[in-house]
Amino acid sequence: MSYLERMREIVKVRNPHEDEFLQAVTEVIESLEPVFARFPEFEETNILERIIEPERQIIFRVPWVDDQGRVHVNRGFRVQYNSAIGPYKGGIRFHPSVNLSIIKFLGFSQVFKNALTGLPLGGGKGGADFDPKGKSEMEIMRFCQSFMTELYRHLGPDTDVPAGDIGVGAREVGYLFGQYRRICNEFTGVFTGKGLSYGGSLVRKEATGFGLVYFVSEMLKAQNKSFDQATVIVSGSGNVATYACQKAQELGAKVVAMSDSNGFIYDPEGIKLDTVKEIKEVQRERIKKYADIHKGARYTEGSRGIWQVPCDIALPCATQNEIYEEDAKALIKNGCYCVGEGANMPTTPSAIKLFLENSILFAPGKAANAGGVATSGLEMTQNSQRLPWSAEEVDSRLRTIMCNIYQDCAAAIDEYGLNSLVEAANIVGFVKVARAMLEQGVI
Ligand code: NDP
Repeated sequence: MSYLERMREIVKVRNPHEDEFLQAVTEVIESLEPVFARFPEFEETNILERIIEPERQIIFRVPWVDDQGRVHVNRGFRVQYNSAIGPYKGGIRFHPSVNLSIIKFLGFSQVFKNALTGLPLGGGKGGADFDPKGKSEMEIMRFCQSFMTELYRHLGPDTDVPAGDIGVGAREVGYLFGQYRRICNEFTGVFTGKGLSYGGSLVRKEATGFGLVYFVSEMLKAQNKSFDQATVIVSGSGNVATYACQKAQELGAKVVAMSDSNGFIYDPEGIKLDTVKEIKEVQRERIKKYADIHKGARYTEGSRGIWQVPCDIALPCATQNEIYEEDAKALIKNGCYCVGEGANMPTTPSAIKLFLENSILFAPGKAANAGGVATSGLEMTQNSQRLPWSAEEVDSRLRTIMCNIYQDCAAAIDEYGLNSLVEAANIVGFVKVARAMLEQGVI
């Protein structure tokens, strides 16, 4: 059995029932053959087994009291995955589906994504199986405070710096940061995605969506294509989806469909993003409402139906495993030629295979959605300098970082003779972290 095959077996035995985690690890291991062929020292020092095992996994109780005085308990997680190239960095997710497998898959992917940005950021991820939907403002605040009352002892501006993710936006980051500051009696850049009034960075809110479109634009440019005049669908209507839609529209695309976890809207005239922002960001309502406001638009129950809408470019920006093989078939049949992952692991392995076999331009999330964490890195720099940068400066750095990630991955395709950006992103991220670990000894 080869070293890589052995690693696949070990990870399966050690992490039974962790489907998402095994999916993410398998994809990376499958990409690494050319790397282990070229660098025998990686096998000699057993780098892969060390990278797969998180440095630290913290699971904790989060008790909180609802508005009726009832006591609830949720489970909190922080997986501090790898700090070989910088402090642990990665978002916090609040969603009822959160479990250790999901947090580990996200943390593992984050390690390589952060390395791709070229910034000194290690990888981690956290969250809780808490559902913010239907909770009052005070319940959200009490939950965030309880979560941070345990988590604070594991964080620090040079140790672990979380950010938002699904269910954790500006409101939650504010409550989490506030509680950290209160307990630790220090004002440091321990969180990113902060409000602009207390150390946040301009363009951080927009960064993942904008960065995705910058990355996909580079990929399209290499094929003499662009967003201009393209028909686009964007799944989700949260942070990543909203700003991916905005940037695609700015570049001349017509975005015709968006979704939430209940269903999707189709607007043949093009999505009016101000309405989506009002419904999702201000009113915290369902996307269904859009079709009541814009009579030419149609709402369909069931979020996966969005992949049946004909488009040139599909940007999955909601959650993991949202494009299955049947969805990929529908997209290809309807003429889609490009898929850019804004979410983490939104495409199942068999759907990715189908896209690649059909020569669909495919931008993997690990590279394409790195703009969020890259701009978080820029927020950390501004916090350390105690100096805010202009929106133009942050946006221009974000654009440069996304172009560089694309160029580094494209170069790896030539260097290693690869077939896709999926393998390239895994290899470029992996090699950077593995080299750093090698130089630091067995720790
Ligand atoms: P938000 O919570 O802001 O938005 C998530 C969106 O996806 C909502 O529209 C939500 O619908 C929908 N959604 C969530 N779960 C499901 C599900 N199980 N099925 C269908 N739709 C679902 O999260 P973000 O926009 O921040 O994150 C979206 C994705 O992007 C995630 O995969 C995240 O890990 C990834 N990402 C986020 C980054 C960031 O900077 N925020 C950075 C890099 C990656 P509803 O409103 O009904 O819940």
